[in-house]
Amino acid sequence: MLPNNQGKTTLYFASNNLHKIEEVRQILSKRFLVLSLKDLTPGIEIPETGSTLEENSLIKAKYIYEKFHVNGFADDTGLEVRALDGKPGVRSARYDGELADDHKNVSLLLKTMEGVEDRKARFRTVITLILGGKEYQFEGIVNGVISQKRSGTKGFGYDTVFIPEDYDKSFAQMTPQEKNKISHRGIAMRKFAEYLLT
Ligand code: IMP
Repeated sequence: MLPNNQGKTTLYFASNNLHKIEEVRQILSKRFLVLSLKDLTPGIEIPETGSTLEENSLIKAKYIYEKFHVNGFADDTGLEVRALDGKPGVRSARYDGELADDHKNVSLLLKTMEGVEDRKARFRTVITLILGGKEYQFEGIVNGVISQKRSGTKGFGYDTVFIPEDYDKSFAQMTPQEKNKISHRGIAMRKFAEYLLT
C-alpha cells in the first residue's frame, strides 16, 4: 500500500451511508483517508444479490476493486431471530418487501413474533476488506432479545425493539456512544481497525 501525499493510505468504503462513513473515518483517520462510493463515481448503487451477509459484503468490496482497481471495504448487517430460523437476516432492510421502510419492517417483525416465547435474536455484521487483491473478513455479533413493543427514539432500523443481553433498555434508548461500544458494527469495526492499524 502506498501512502498518498498526505502521508495516508486511501481506502474506499463501498457505502453511501454518511453516518457509517463518518464513524469509520473517526476510527481510521490517523493513518487512512477513507473515501466513499460517491468519491469514485456519483450515483452508483451496488446490487446486493448474495444470499448471506458474507456474500453481500464481498460482492460490494469486489465491485469497487474490480471496477476501479482500488483498495476498499464494505459491510453488510442483518438481524437474525432464532425463532424465525435466522430471518430477516440478509433481507433485514427489505423484510416487508421492496418498498419497506424501518417502521414497516419493525411492525411486521412484532406481528410475526406475536405469541412467540423464544425472543432471542442477534445482530451480525460482516466487513470485507480487499487490500492488494487479498480478501479479509471481520465479524461482529451482539446477542439480545426482541421486545414486545417499541421503546426509545434514537438509532434506526430495528433499534426500538432490540434489547441487548445484560441490558434492560433498547438500542434506541442508548446514546450513539453507548450503542457503539457493544454493537455488532462497533465490534466488527474495531476488529477491522485493529487489523489495519497494527
Ligand atoms: P446494512 O447492511 O448496514 O445496510 O443493514 C441492513 C439492515 O439491517 C438495515 O436496513 C436495518 O434495517 C438493519 N440494521 C443494520 N444495522 C442496524 C442497527 O445498528 N440497528 C438496527 N437495525 C440495523
